[in-house]
Amino acid sequence: RQIVCDACSGSGAKPGTKKIDCPTCHGRGQVLYSAGFVNVSQTCPKCRGEGSTIKSPCSKCDGAGKVRSTQKIEVTVPAGVDTGSRLRVQGEGDTGTRGGPSGDLYIYINVKEHPIFQRHGYDIICEVPISFPLATLGGEIEVPTLTGNVMMRIPEGTQSGRVFRLGSKGVKNLRGYGTGDQLVKVIMETPTHLTSEQKKFLKEFERVCSPSVNPISQSFMDKVKKIFKK
Ligand SMILES: [Zn+2]
Ligand SMILES: [Zn+2]
Repeated sequence: RQIVCDACSGSGAKPGTKKIDCPTCHGRGQVLYSAGFVNVSQTCPKCRGEGSTIKSPCSKCDGAGKVRSTQKIEVTVPAGVDTGSRLRVQGEGDTGTRGGPSGDLYIYINVKEHPIFQRHGYDIICEVPISFPLATLGGEIEVPTLTGNVMMRIPEGTQSGRVFRLGSKGVKNLRGYGTGDQLVKVIMETPTHLTSEQKKFLKEFERVCSPSVNPISQSFMDKVKKIFKK
């Protein structure tokens, strides 16, 4: 941003020197010129209507009265902002000309990606892996939310990809109308790196299962059979 030059206090004149009346308009800020039979008054091109000019300009700001400066300021970010939101900070923009009011600073928000939470409007989406026995038998899991961990019940026979909704665990609405939800998508993890003993138990488990324990597979196989009968 541009701030008032501290060497000349914004006047643009070299410290110790004064501004002089503009020689072109003699301090009036306006010049007259003839256009045919009428005299037209126009803003003085030399002083741009200010009426005075600087004899020896300030060496720090070259007579502009302002200098470039980098400043760090603290800004309060309201809850609920998203990428593309614009914040206005009053008076933190460039300083005005010759003591005029400062402009405003505009901040464009860009929200960083989070390793486990994804944002969807005011809702938060989180994928949580669950084990094969938990998905099959049901139970409770600990789920991270924006405000800390909560316990969530997994019903018996939960399929992979099922989405559970945790009410009001999402992002606060920017205009203060309530809070979004957290959507928990459970992904059943297929067991890997099994020992031969574990594999033996699983084969034993498969042997005692009837096709009715996998109704989705059963109905898929039925559809396939129908297609190939035609
Ligand atoms: Zn200066
Ligand atoms: Zn002038």
